[in-house]
Amino acid sequence: MTDRLYYHDSFLYDFEAEVREVTATPKLGLILDRTAFYPTSGGQVFDTGIIETENEKLKVTEVADAEDGRVVHYLEAPPKSLQPGAKIRGQIDATRRRDHMQQHTGQHVLSAAFVRMFSMPTVSFHMADDYCSIDLDTPSINKDQIEQAERLANEIILENRAVKIRFVTRDEAVKSGLRKLPPAERDELRLIDIDDFDLSACGGTHVNQTGQIGCVMLRKTERVRQGWRVEFVAGQRAVATARRDFTALTETAGLFSAHIYDVPQQARKSLDEIRSLRKQREQSVEELAEARAAALLAETGETNGRKIVIRSFSDRDMNFMKLLAQQLTRLAPNVIALLATTSPQPSLVFAQSAGQPHDMGALMKEMIVKLGGRGGGSKDMAQGGVPNANGIDAVLHSAASALP
Ligand SMILES: [Zn+2]
Repeated sequence: MTDRLYYHDSFLYDFEAEVREVTATPKLGLILDRTAFYPTSGGQVFDTGIIETENEKLKVTEVADAEDGRVVHYLEAPPKSLQPGAKIRGQIDATRRRDHMQQHTGQHVLSAAFVRMFSMPTVSFHMADDYCSIDLDTPSINKDQIEQAERLANEIILENRAVKIRFVTRDEAVKSGLRKLPPAERDELRLIDIDDFDLSACGGTHVNQTGQIGCVMLRKTERVRQGWRVEFVAGQRAVATARRDFTALTETAGLFSAHIYDVPQQARKSLDEIRSLRKQREQSVEELAEARAAALLAETGETNGRKIVIRSFSDRDMNFMKLLAQQLTRLAPNVIALLATTSPQPSLVFAQSAGQPHDMGALMKEMIVKLGGRGGGSKDMAQGGVPNANGIDAVLHSAASALP
């Protein structure tokens, strides 16, 4: 078993130890007689840092718990020479460790606040790179409860209460009113005691005084299988997150030329405007299609008792083309519309007035292959898309010639 120095002192960033073993599988790892490096467990992620030997500096990229109670330090590159018995000096990345201590101790305070105020126990804790979360065993949670728990947690932080480590037997732990008893594994338990506020069994790294957490800020809540997930950030992460939020909000407010607190109102107003403009636009496009259809019919002569309208556009979308085809074939009983657009998306629309004898779907299939596209439709209306606009006009004319 590796002697875990962080069990007694979470602020020990620098230590000396002796190499026990250099492992090659599953990947290159180092086992020491003692370590201050924290291995991933209980929701808290591993430390990183440096292991210095007599003649080189090795980068520790990950630390894990082996099943036999030993701690494995995974290295970025293989050591040039390192034998069991060699003396090393370990240095933890202090910034990363401090951040983890702030998040983790913040979680203890927050979990206790939810239990004390609303009897909502924490069932799991997760630490990601930029936020943390706890899952609460509760059927529901509301905004007020979130704010109240956040307030109490921050009061406990402001009171700068002592956070002490105690080792007790399992029986003693049961009698001491532990927030959550871990599954029976070992006889001795490590308790983290936040003065007169929380007592829980935990093997993680914690600050010495709650003031070192800085603050906790609660963010997203979402329903999960077991209850509710509450995201939070503590300490410097809370400041960094608030900074990022402020930057995003300020940028958005700038777009509206508004104060940041007026952004939701401005955004709602803009969305309402967009909806209303979209409606107006739809109406205008329909009116335009109708007017264009009437003009096209007026300038198209009748041959063999029918009017064949051939038209290619360079700036109309499929929606307009379909509207135009509908209007053309509705305004007169003897119309065949062979329409195309070259931009934004090259495409074709064929349509005939109800009662005309042709098959637009079949005609479209026959013509569209000449352009390397795909399409089809019903007897009276068909559409298709082509990869580019080359040869579109010629195909419209050959479609007209193909009509009996
Ligand atoms: Zn803990």
